[in-house]
Amino acid sequence: MSQIQENLQKVTERIEKAARKAGRDPNEIKLVAVSKTVEVARIKEAVEAGVSILGENYVQEAQKKIEEIGRPVSWHFIGHLQSNKAKYAIRLFDMIHSVDGLPLAEELNRRAEQANQKIKVMIEVNLSKETTKFGTDEEMVMNLAKGIQNLNHLSLEGLMTMPPYFDLPEMSRPYYVALRELKERMAKEGIPMKELSMGMSNDYDIAIEEGATYVRVGTAIFGARK
Ligand SMILES: *Cc1c(COP(=O)(O)O)cnc(C)c1O
Repeated sequence: MSQIQENLQKVTERIEKAARKAGRDPNEIKLVAVSKTVEVARIKEAVEAGVSILGENYVQEAQKKIEEIGRPVSWHFIGHLQSNKAKYAIRLFDMIHSVDGLPLAEELNRRAEQANQKIKVMIEVNLSKETTKFGTDEEMVMNLAKGIQNLNHLSLEGLMTMPPYFDLPEMSRPYYVALRELKERMAKEGIPMKELSMGMSNDYDIAIEEGATYVRVGTAIFGARK
């Protein structure tokens, strides 16, 4: 078995274990294999080993890879998206996890309309108030969600977050709890969100315990990035 196959098997097992521990159906949890900086040959290996969603952070880098690997998999954008790249993002990706404001949402909608398409999006929520992190402040999420619901070419699927990095995975838990609670509040306000995109290599099992439906895992599948 190759290293990537072995890693993927371990990740899959840990996802199942975390789901069972939380009394959840493991099939509710979708794995996004984060392939930023990973070369095409190794991504193909992961696809052959069973990965069905790839996550990329940079439009140009993803474009090259998508040309070579094609669409036996679906491609998700998880990085910071600049409005001037919206046009390309629409063509390349099946889902954008990181919509962080109405101007970007409107530009995506405009481009999707031109392309006669509908694109799935999530709102990236900044729960840590770090100025270096992207995302919408929690208080603004409800307004942004309502704004996106008025855009006919976007389909609002859920919420995404990325906590600050901690050596101790357990330290991420409050952020994942906060995102789940935000989803619950939104449902009460009549804005039900289907998906929660949260959890990375070091803490995806904790995110699953708190309700993640997408986990975004890079290092644990592909090894450390250069
Ligand atoms: C790189 C990245 C990941 C994956 O991080 P790992 O620690 O390698 O699993 C997940 N989400 C986002 C938004 C990323 O940029």
